[in-house]
Amino acid sequence: MSNEKTTSLKVGELDFPPRKVWMKTYGCQMNYHDSERILSNLQSLNFTMTTDQQEADLVIFNTCAVRDLANQKFYSHLGETKHLKAHINPETGLKNDVIVAAGGCIAQTEGKELVKKFKTLDFAFGTDVIDNIGEMVYRAYAGEKKFSVTSWDRSENYSIETKITQGTPQAYVNIIKGCDKFCSYCIVPFTRGREKSRRLQEVVTDIKRLVEYSGIQEVMLLGQNVNSFGKDNNESLAQLIMELDGVNGLERLRYTTSHPYDVTDELVAAHASSKKLADSLHLPVQSGSNTVLQRMLREYTIEHYLTLLGKMRKANPNIVISTDIIAGFPNETEEEHQATVKLLELAQYDNIFSYTYSARSGTKSARMKDVLTDDIRGKRLREIQNAQMIIQAKLRGQMVGKTFRVLVEEKGISKGVTKWTGRTSCLRIVHFEPETPEHDYKWHWVDVEIISSTALSTQGKIVKDHGKRLTH
Ligand code: SF4
Repeated sequence: MSNEKTTSLKVGELDFPPRKVWMKTYGCQMNYHDSERILSNLQSLNFTMTTDQQEADLVIFNTCAVRDLANQKFYSHLGETKHLKAHINPETGLKNDVIVAAGGCIAQTEGKELVKKFKTLDFAFGTDVIDNIGEMVYRAYAGEKKFSVTSWDRSENYSIETKITQGTPQAYVNIIKGCDKFCSYCIVPFTRGREKSRRLQEVVTDIKRLVEYSGIQEVMLLGQNVNSFGKDNNESLAQLIMELDGVNGLERLRYTTSHPYDVTDELVAAHASSKKLADSLHLPVQSGSNTVLQRMLREYTIEHYLTLLGKMRKANPNIVISTDIIAGFPNETEEEHQATVKLLELAQYDNIFSYTYSARSGTKSARMKDVLTDDIRGKRLREIQNAQMIIQAKLRGQMVGKTFRVLVEEKGISKGVTKWTGRTSCLRIVHFEPETPEHDYKWHWVDVEIISSTALSTQGKIVKDHGKRLTH
């Protein structure tokens, strides 16, 4: 979405001159995927994207309700937009006619309140209406003020075509929306609604099109609980993976996020037989204590979870596993916390995403009486993270001397030295110096031998540059 437009477009009763949209996305990959759909939809109203908020005609915040920090950031960023509305355009000498909108998870649950509370906010829209963004922007330009659209899509089928705007060989492809799990701490079932899957053949056709016409080589299948994909249609994630295995030109396939309860033997087997499925798996555990998992309503035990890890590692000995952990769930005892620290040792995670618990209003756990303080939560989080760093440094150290295939994403300068950065199939970040200063590796497949590592990254030397396409 970068080509400058120069001519005006007539849409309905209105003229849409070339305009700029600036967008801020908070939270998970699902939100980033939604943002891409929003930007793509706005092209038909003559918008191009800008990274400079000051030159934007339309400002959109795509919000996240899962963590308190993202919430607070959004409220503060929204408050700052009053300066934009007061900004004088140097070319016209007039006050900028900026339209400000908020979408995503916070807007889904608080849309009406947000437009009332924040003077600068022109409209709010929920998670299930993002494909109607054009209609809402049209209404705003037609003069409609202060509205909120948070309806749910009631149709039985979930059918979309993936929209991409980034021009990279990587694409997020949404395969299921919503979540039926209702973990006691999670707001997602309230902000994203019930589970609804796309049909398997629709996803396959969509990805074939992306590979053939948009140069996509790496796909991340997305959903709040991808393991539930196809349940209502007698289809499954494992079947989808095996179908995609036959797509020529597709090099790597990932999926996220998984719920351990729904991982089937069929899916484990797909990790053994698929040639495209990457050597990485994100399998959120949340806690190492069975009693905490019960209070979280997670539906599995640690024993079940560890058995699954064992099966996955047997199916693909190269697989690396990451997870999510919540430190200080309400009334977590020291013993329950220590069970999580112990789990790190047992599970040998390659990476963890860990946070202190924060109550989300409307969830079951927010109504629990809780004796823990922020200090205890912070201390437990640090303990978890410190323990993980030691494990991670050891695991990364084992990469040294081995060669990995890397898809190169970007160039940077570190301490005056130019380095390129990419990710392995197991999602580890690798930095390497170019063979010559002018060598351009952007989106090349390269083989890199790892020469040193830390807990967070690895340094390598280039062994072979395959260019932008692999030959098999
Ligand atoms: S599985 Fe649980 S944590 Fe994940 S989105 Fe659904 S309710 Fe939230």
